[in-house]
Amino acid sequence: MPTCGAAALLVILLAAGAARATGPAERRCERALTRVGPRLLARSTGLLAACARAVATGARAAGTDCLADAAIARRRAAAARAAHRRLRRACSVEAAAALHLGGDCADARTPDAIAGCLVGTHDADADAVLAVAGAASGALPEAARACQLEAIGRTREVLLGRAHLLAPCRRHPPRALAAGSDCAAYPPLAARLARLGSRAAARIEARCGAAVLGAAHFGVPCGAPADGGALAQCLLGVAGAAADDALAAERRDPGFCGDTRATVERRLGRLLARMTLAEKLDQMHGVSVFTPGLAGRITEVARLRIPGIGMLDGARGVSAVSGTATCFPVGMARGATWDEALEERVGEAIGAETRAKGGSMILAPVVNILRHPRWGRAQETYGEDTVHLGRMGVAFVRGAQRHVIANPKHYALNSIENTRFAVDVAVDERSLREVFLPHFRRTVQEGHAGAVMAAYNQVNGAHCSENTHLLRDVLDGDWGFQGFVESDWILGTRSTVPAVEAGLDVEMPAPGYFGKPLADAVKAGQVRLTTIDAAVRRTLRAQLCFRLDTDPPKVDPTQVETPAHVALALQAARESIVLLRNEAGALPLDRAQVRSLVVVGPLAAMADLGSSLVVPAAAVSPLDGIRAHAGGVTVTYVEASSPSPADLALIAPADAAVVVVGLTSQDEGEGLITIGDRTSLALPRDQDRLVAAVAAANPRTIVVLEGSGALLMPWLGQVSAVLMAWYPGEAGGTAIAEVLFGDVNPSGRLPVTFPRAESDLPPFDDTSPAVQYGYFHGYRYLDRNDTAPLFPFGFGLAYTTFRYSNLAITPATVSPWGRVRVTAEVTNTGPVAGDEVAQLYVGYTGSRVARAVRDLKAFARVHLEPGETRTVPFEVRAPDLAYWDAGAAAFVVEPIAYTVEVGPSSRDLPLAGAFAVSP
Ligand code: BGC
Repeated sequence: MPTCGAAALLVILLAAGAARATGPAERRCERALTRVGPRLLARSTGLLAACARAVATGARAAGTDCLADAAIARRRAAAARAAHRRLRRACSVEAAAALHLGGDCADARTPDAIAGCLVGTHDADADAVLAVAGAASGALPEAARACQLEAIGRTREVLLGRAHLLAPCRRHPPRALAAGSDCAAYPPLAARLARLGSRAAARIEARCGAAVLGAAHFGVPCGAPADGGALAQCLLGVAGAAADDALAAERRDPGFCGDTRATVERRLGRLLARMTLAEKLDQMHGVSVFTPGLAGRITEVARLRIPGIGMLDGARGVSAVSGTATCFPVGMARGATWDEALEERVGEAIGAETRAKGGSMILAPVVNILRHPRWGRAQETYGEDTVHLGRMGVAFVRGAQRHVIANPKHYALNSIENTRFAVDVAVDERSLREVFLPHFRRTVQEGHAGAVMAAYNQVNGAHCSENTHLLRDVLDGDWGFQGFVESDWILGTRSTVPAVEAGLDVEMPAPGYFGKPLADAVKAGQVRLTTIDAAVRRTLRAQLCFRLDTDPPKVDPTQVETPAHVALALQAARESIVLLRNEAGALPLDRAQVRSLVVVGPLAAMADLGSSLVVPAAAVSPLDGIRAHAGGVTVTYVEASSPSPADLALIAPADAAVVVVGLTSQDEGEGLITIGDRTSLALPRDQDRLVAAVAAANPRTIVVLEGSGALLMPWLGQVSAVLMAWYPGEAGGTAIAEVLFGDVNPSGRLPVTFPRAESDLPPFDDTSPAVQYGYFHGYRYLDRNDTAPLFPFGFGLAYTTFRYSNLAITPATVSPWGRVRVTAEVTNTGPVAGDEVAQLYVGYTGSRVARAVRDLKAFARVHLEPGETRTVPFEVRAPDLAYWDAGAAAFVVEPIAYTVEVGPSSRDLPLAGAFAVSP
């Protein structure tokens, strides 16, 4: 791979708090980028396409690996050197630092880093497309060759054509483009892109009939197309994604405003010039503590057609303050699906319901990392790992923001309830940057969230709402966040001048420190008007870019708890249930053999109405669900939490017993509003005794657990099966019954470690005014201490089995901006169809700093029919391997060897390999 100076390449991110400006120097640098990028892409794809064509025609030796070809590498290196020279000439150090590029170049802040990143991303995009379109390893028969050559040519044409068509529109977006939209959606351009695609598709289809498909070779995900049409669609999808990826890296990140940012900024300038100081200050706080039907509201300014923002919670559905709504499984349950596409649909449904209730902003997702499972709001987040959490959070934001503004919260390190308003969390900069913030960063940079909520707690001595480091240095400076920061409710804002200076834009839900005290501070000259304008600009930017002025939300009860949303809640519940234990095929229950079933426990009849206060119109309890799915099986219900001899006489003779136990809002939840943090990881209210009693009476005892996460199970060895159902939402009882009877094959995987004892985790202190967080928690903590978990992170059984084979890693060496493509084959070796979540972990050989034994870096959920094998593709971006070098105040990618392990959980990784990063 092409390289440039090691020092420049290794230091990716410049010091925190880089300035932002758009002057002639930045414009010059930007212009150079728009020339260098397309050239690199054309060059790289041209070289690879020529090589792939030569292999398919037999002009080059069979088995030639074009991606590893030395001559191509040399010519790419020359192109890279030219790119470096050009960008060094065109971009001053200051201009480069102020650019805030998007995509994979979001960290590049020096001319050399930008050049290195452009080369890395564009080469990787070219590789990705050619690895799919030009996968023949030797000369092909004539018809197959014609198909392969057409595929190579047309895919490249669409890749370059899309980039070429979009670039000018992005530089000068037409006036007619609606605020917040992307050029690709601008009708005349959309039509040209569609024509480009359909012409290319028709030509691929014409050459690649079903008869020749078997002889031509295409890479994943287009390896086994049904016909020429499917092949064309798949190839052109890959080409389109690569074009968008390359374009994102070549330009200033447009954030949530799409391609219209410049137009919106001009409008904002005009608006600010017309607003009075009082009107501006009103945009900086909520209207009142109680806002009927909403959690809070920023006022409108009717005379200027400023619409204001209506806010609603929450993380599992629209909160009960607005009436009934679809109650989805909680965040942790959805985390257990590891299904980003599904989470995007959930976000979209919650966004649609928010809008249909008159809201324009959803106070979600919760992306606080689960540092310890006793945290009272554990259920609201997605899990303990930053990559998994970030990807699920981005999916939610993308879905929700099709309808409303999303608001990742609570920024940051909010993971204790009982002391949440006061606790000071001390954390070193490296842990902050690598463990506690990257998921927030993803929701801002990849998800383009329009707002962020500051947390109640303090971090390193300052409350989050007045924490200059978190708000100004990191969120604004390093991540280029363009949305607004609001405080958490009531006790979230702690001061006037320090808060506004630190970067708090809005106090919620009512003025306390902002409003009059802020007006006084402005009058007294303690806060400059430019600071006020900058804050108001952010809030207004969100309102205009989300088109709240031209397309305001309309109350429409027919869009709430629709059959489609309830079906989605059921699907999420199905995918979230984790089968933890299944001895001797205790599950699924075969209706032909299990003729009588006893269901035990008070939770069995309790529909999960949502401890985060979502109230659905109807909900299915586990007992209701089991009764509805029992077919001819007799179902008896024993409600007792402490079974009497009479109860045991009913439990013992049944063919199987299902005991439903776990947590409720009496045991965990938000501080102050509900009970707060859990007091231990044990099952409360004597439920261990209940399980043991049922297990002693009935040899086929199946335990269904509800709750936010890790629970201790002293009775584990005595029961036949255990299902973790979390808080499964309004359709949860149906999903539980479907899994019990085998109508659905369980496919959830733990997003959090279940330890054998609480002492195996780092300490959880919810009484002290100050706590310290370190670099390790969850599976990384147990791995480091070599402690066996009860159930590891990523774990889950199914009614089938999966085999992993054939790990492939390319290339063997990458630049610090490159990407590694990894594939693994997964086979369903059992009797029924099922979904597997394949996980990829990276380890570090010879790192100069303490690292985790392994870190999750990628995952993929795949569906497999019995006997089916699929090649699962993963991608590892070299910048994601960086550690935070506190001395240099920068992320550093080390030129060392990285191990790759792939398998079904963090403790079961049958495939292993390695790659290296070159300086
Ligand atoms: C919670 C937030 C919530 C807000 C508004 C606060 O108590 O911490 O998560 O969005 O209330 O309801």
